Amino acid sequence: MTRILIVGAGFAGAVHARELADAGFEVDVIDKRNHIGGNCFDYVHESGVRIHRYGPHLFHTSSQKVVDWLTRFTGWIPYEHRVVARLSDKRLVPLPVNLDTINEVFGTRFETEDAVTAFLTTKSVARSEITSAEEYLYSAIGTELTDLFFRPYTSKMWGMSLSEIDAAVVRRLQIRTSRDDRYFLDDSFQAMPKDGFTTLFERMLNHPRIHVRLSEAFDKERSEQYDFCFNSMPIDEYYSFAFGELPYRSIKFHLIEVPITQAQSRVVINYTDASPYTRETWWHVLPGHHIYRTNNVVQTIEEPCDYRLNNFERYYPVKNKDGRFDLVYRRYAEQRSHGGHMNFIGRCGTYQYLDMHQVINQSLMNVQKWLRDRASFQAS
Ligand code: UDP
Repeated sequence: MTRILIVGAGFAGAVHARELADAGFEVDVIDKRNHIGGNCFDYVHESGVRIHRYGPHLFHTSSQKVVDWLTRFTGWIPYEHRVVARLSDKRLVPLPVNLDTINEVFGTRFETEDAVTAFLTTKSVARSEITSAEEYLYSAIGTELTDLFFRPYTSKMWGMSLSEIDAAVVRRLQIRTSRDDRYFLDDSFQAMPKDGFTTLFERMLNHPRIHVRLSEAFDKERSEQYDFCFNSMPIDEYYSFAFGELPYRSIKFHLIEVPITQAQSRVVINYTDASPYTRETWWHVLPGHHIYRTNNVVQTIEEPCDYRLNNFERYYPVKNKDGRFDLVYRRYAEQRSHGGHMNFIGRCGTYQYLDMHQVINQSLMNVQKWLRDRASFQAS
């Protein structure tokens, strides 16, 4: 009987576990935390509000395959995420930058996309080459909008300047010339799991061939008792940092309970100023997140920091414009770990800035590939 070890009970680990169990394998899942769900873990706070312990997770995808797979384990509540930024005079404006944002900031009265496009062309600072976030933003929206919405926020979020960071990081926010203020413009499916993420994970992992052990850290010797290991632990840590460290940003979450009468009606408000905090989330506004009716609700305020300053909780892989850490990652990835019986998966195993739907898609493909490779090896 082939025995498989999965390290990490987040999306990467849980999707691998379920697919392999469905394919007939016995699967042990370990996680060093005392809960499943990885960074998607949510729970109901005593105020009666469902909180995502590691910051807001809003599900969105254009992959029907991913939706169909998840729908085996959860119902959905439609939800299109919208974010506003708070300006220094307390005005709230839509983010990503759209037609209304531009009118608010510049006092203009544009009504059409063409007018906004023409305006942004006058603002654009042409660049011959675009590798950094700053070069991309200067050419897309010019200096004022870059300095207002991106410069201080990025510096506190990443601990480095816009000119050092890879353009792909800020390209996640599409600049719009329309009034569309949905955060995830292109995704055809946007919804929240009906009973929360943790319940979704419980159902994914509820299988007679899946055995979950929590509060258990990875142990090399123990892992060698298995025929194969899918490992979502940080790859640099697995190799004892032999080629250097892969840096991550972490977040300190400050929870503040307030009477509902003092609450905001927005889910997320970004602080684009130079304060140490990046955003506030009002959980009760998310559909399905106000479970019991008490008089209080909870707000979470995020404070980014180096992951070493936050119990080595890794959330965001740092992407410099010169790709220097990706080169370090590649050196790790080239090692044939565990005699070729180990595969690194997920954000920390592959050092990628991935959204949930991308992790799920990659995991589904990875299991299919592994099963194919195994079948052709056995046939040969
Ligand atoms: N960003 C910014 N200002 C904002 C929001 C985002 O400068 O108000 C930049 C910042 O560098 C951030 C990146 O855009 O890390 C991607 O933002 P996103 O909202 O996708 O980050 P996430 O939701 O993954 O934290």
